[in-house]
Amino acid sequence: MPAAGKIVQPRHYDAFHCIGADCEDTCCAGWGVVIDRATYDRYRQCGDPELQPSFDELITINTVDQSDEDYADITLSEARCPFLSERLCSIQKKLGEEYLSDTCAIYPRILNRVGETLEQNLDLSCPEAARIVLLDPRPAELVEIANCGERFRIGRPRVPDTPNSAYDGGTYPYFLEVRGLILTILRERTYPLWKRLVMTGHLCDKLNEMACLRNDEGVPILIQGYLHGIQNQWFDDLLNKCQLRPVTQLITILELIIRRTTSGFTGRRFLDCYQDFIHGLEWTKESALEEIARRYAGAYAQYYAPFVQQNELVLEHYLVTYIYRNLFPLGRLESNRKSGIHHIENSISIQCMLMMTYYAILRTVAIGMAGRHKSAFGMDHLIKVIQSTAKEFEHSTAFPAQAIEILTRNGLKCGSSMAVLVQDL
Ligand code: SF4
Repeated sequence: MPAAGKIVQPRHYDAFHCIGADCEDTCCAGWGVVIDRATYDRYRQCGDPELQPSFDELITINTVDQSDEDYADITLSEARCPFLSERLCSIQKKLGEEYLSDTCAIYPRILNRVGETLEQNLDLSCPEAARIVLLDPRPAELVEIANCGERFRIGRPRVPDTPNSAYDGGTYPYFLEVRGLILTILRERTYPLWKRLVMTGHLCDKLNEMACLRNDEGVPILIQGYLHGIQNQWFDDLLNKCQLRPVTQLITILELIIRRTTSGFTGRRFLDCYQDFIHGLEWTKESALEEIARRYAGAYAQYYAPFVQQNELVLEHYLVTYIYRNLFPLGRLESNRKSGIHHIENSISIQCMLMMTYYAILRTVAIGMAGRHKSAFGMDHLIKVIQSTAKEFEHSTAFPAQAIEILTRNGLKCGSSMAVLVQDL
């Protein structure tokens, strides 16, 4: 990152401070802790009589896909970082922050590089960051800050992927323009949020078709067409044709949740939300699906919708920050590689399907939670389900491929087909 490069971030970015032992979650549970090469070398030579034996025993060099950023791993103990002691990091406590790996020092900050611009955002998988981002009443947008040259550690910021192998070695043109259009659609409050998402899905499918043909020249015309179409309600017919299918919505989301929670460690906070969801819908082995769908629609109408209509900005903030954090609709190159969705032909549609999947999961679980908590359903519940879904689903490297397999099997094969999972009841 050149010293002269621009730095942009949301207005709330500098308000984040880790609350440490007061945190209701911990970033040291459930995740593999990646160690970069420079930190690994510091650990090999630290010489601390207490920590050196643990470093030697618990840190192993990666043998697959090794890079300077992803050089070694800490072996977890019962799905927790073994250096966590009394809810505090013993490495930081004993040796200081400079001994933290890039991953631990940077989290929950997300650093991306787009051209010469460094984009800084906060990751919603941290409860404190989620509160700061989701409760900010100001527009969610990136604003330029002074580049004073003395920044917090940035490691190696991630870069946007390209849609498919035809772009290998190059960049996708019009990324910023396309992202700008998607943000415009998601902020178009004359439409309910689910309709904005369906229009985004439709756009992503078109961009995907063009990327497959490498028709980059057509992208500016497409952008103008969408801007004009939205201003003139050209999409209303398409949106009015979306058919409401609450049973399909419920069983597809349930299958996605079960696949994720049965294939690896799942944190307590998401499991709490899931239990609330099951209880709220009185979902038992004996229940008929139509009956559960009726209770689901009732919880939506009576408790979820009245609260969310007053607080829709929280969900809009979730989606807008998702777009920034994940370099949507291309994704972050490194994350795409790790989850096996790098250079697949329909990658723009896949990115869109994944974003809508995460949104659909947290919304469906929140509706069940509203059924459980009734008129007490409120902001703490919504933030908890957003934060824990981000942590358990968005951070899973296995889940994207699992989700695409489930969606495809259920006939959901492109961005616009995802309407069925996000449509209001
Ligand atoms: S999840 Fe966030 S607030 Fe909690 S310990 Fe980690 S960085 Fe700190």
